[in-house]
Amino acid sequence: MSAADLPEKLYFHVDLDAFYASVEQRDNPELRGLPVIVGGDRSGRGVVSACSYEARVFGVHSAMPVAEACRLCSEAVVLPVRMQRYQEVSAKIMALLETHTPVLQQISIDEAFLDMSGTEKLLGPAYDQAVRLKRIIRTEFGLNASIGIANSRYVAKMASDFRKPDGLHEVRPGCEMDFVAQLDLKDIWGLGKKTRVRLNQLGIHTVEELRKLNEHELRGFLGESSGSYLYLACRGIDPGIFSGKSSRHSISTETTFDRDIHDTATLETVLLELCEQVMYRVYKADAYSQTATIKVRT
Ligand SMILES: [Mg+2]
Repeated sequence: MSAADLPEKLYFHVDLDAFYASVEQRDNPELRGLPVIVGGDRSGRGVVSACSYEARVFGVHSAMPVAEACRLCSEAVVLPVRMQRYQEVSAKIMALLETHTPVLQQISIDEAFLDMSGTEKLLGPAYDQAVRLKRIIRTEFGLNASIGIANSRYVAKMASDFRKPDGLHEVRPGCEMDFVAQLDLKDIWGLGKKTRVRLNQLGIHTVEELRKLNEHELRGFLGESSGSYLYLACRGIDPGIFSGKSSRHSISTETTFDRDIHDTATLETVLLELCEQVMYRVYKADAYSQTATIKVRT
């Protein structure tokens, strides 16, 4: 068999919408259609772990202090985090996804990549398969998922975000450049806030402007690895973040609070979530680690 006979690479990125909040609304029908905030209590302590789209309309977002969220949206229903419940639902959904792909790569409690390469001959066009999958998740779990389709995990990940919530977007092979051109810099996966600030200082505010810099210039401005990463990323070429082949030396995640948090319960909840994200990624990368570091900045 020659390389030309191998099926085109095809990936789905499945991302459950407002997962914790949606599980709460699913478990308690009275909450449907209401602004729901998951993360502590109304006393104002705690940060928002998740919020429903009804709450986002008011400007509420995750990692915001609950007190501030309640000021923005006084009618919000504030609920404690029920991590065990979310994990239970997540495990069932992942088991379902596993029946749709030979290779499932879970990257967080509510997100996974499905390698769908070669399935089109058997199961029909990718888009139709994704429509069916969304319908199954909706019927069996009462939850909305957004799905991105592309020939790399990297572009599929950005595509699932593109039409969120309840989104479905397919980036056809050869259309990666056009797809990424429509994105804001903040929507380029892996382009962090610091890099964005640096780019803005250089007068770069759009993907088009970013593409005017060659790889050498980007490496000069942002450092070797960030420069090369962005050079590929802004062209819709997978920079290797999810390929599993990368020679990355650490797997990490972090969060920043809008204000100082002194409440131990909140800090523990957030730390647990961060640990869990890292644990999933290490597990799915089939990697291991000798050292775990926790960085706290005051
Ligand atoms: Mg999600």
